[in-house]
Amino acid sequence: MPRKIRALGLLSGGLDSMLAGAVLRGQGIDVTCICFVTPFYGAQRAREAAAHLGLPLKEVDFTEKFEPLLYEPPHGFGKGHNPCIDCHALMIREAGLVMAVEGFDFVFTGEVLGQRPMSQNRGSLNTVARESGLAELLLRPLSAKLLKTTRPELEGWVDRERLLNLSGRGRQRQIALAAEYGITRYPAPAGGCLLTDPGFAIRIKELLRHQGRASRRDLELLKWGRHFRLPGGVKAVVGRTQRDNEAIEGLMAPGDYCLKVEDFPGPLVLVMGEVAEPDLQETAGLAAAYSDAPLGAAVRVSVEGGGAVRLLHLETPAKERFKDLLI
Ligand code: SF4
Repeated sequence: MPRKIRALGLLSGGLDSMLAGAVLRGQGIDVTCICFVTPFYGAQRAREAAAHLGLPLKEVDFTEKFEPLLYEPPHGFGKGHNPCIDCHALMIREAGLVMAVEGFDFVFTGEVLGQRPMSQNRGSLNTVARESGLAELLLRPLSAKLLKTTRPELEGWVDRERLLNLSGRGRQRQIALAAEYGITRYPAPAGGCLLTDPGFAIRIKELLRHQGRASRRDLELLKWGRHFRLPGGVKAVVGRTQRDNEAIEGLMAPGDYCLKVEDFPGPLVLVMGEVAEPDLQETAGLAAAYSDAPLGAAVRVSVEGGGAVRLLHLETPAKERFKDLLI
């Protein structure tokens, strides 16, 4: 019996990547999916998509390799802080390494020509193919008929005639194809990657402007609470919900200060780094302002840090007082 062709496909969990897998599986190809995880894009969508398709999924945390792209991606950022062209190239390059080690025949993606103005125009697709180092072993089944013929097609591993010629931003054909392939659950287009979120982009750009580089913890913290840059330069993170409070608490490190209002329900407030007394007082005000304490009420705020716990006494200020500090 001839050996079954094995393909490794990037699965974001979006409809296009699901369809790409379904199209190839429909040709009898043995499809495995791979998703790349960073603090900005988790594996949940891909897990759900792989489970729905009934395809195996490999999850790879490539944060360390991705991190340089946060600073100076050779092909720049999208509208947010998303270095999509370089990120795609990196993911495909990494998939290529897995392909070589694990004996897959080629790599495929769900990219659609012209779907995203920056990262999926013809020039960008060519750039990604070239810079990923895979070039002819990279197949985009959804737009294959509009693109240069690749080796899997030339070798007859896949039937080019049964690949697609999708282009542009419309979704009608994808939706029809989903029904054809029995794909009934898929997320709304876009979304998912925090780096494309305008609010998150503001936070990360501010962080990098302020301290040049970011640790994994800095990046994780950006996902939770409200962030304030205090006059002395340190940052305070104020939980908005119980989940925020728990996440922020879980990310605390030695040297941090933790503030809580004693007499009313309120947020956990984290201050990172060497903090001067006026900034600590300001942070206690923040903790009170975002607590349930009425405006002007006398509150006690516990301050834990620097090897001690103490109580600050103050009157609850208005939130507006801090609006210029909000990132
Ligand atoms: S949206 Fe995020 S995960 Fe997707 S390619 Fe762009 S930077 Fe990478």
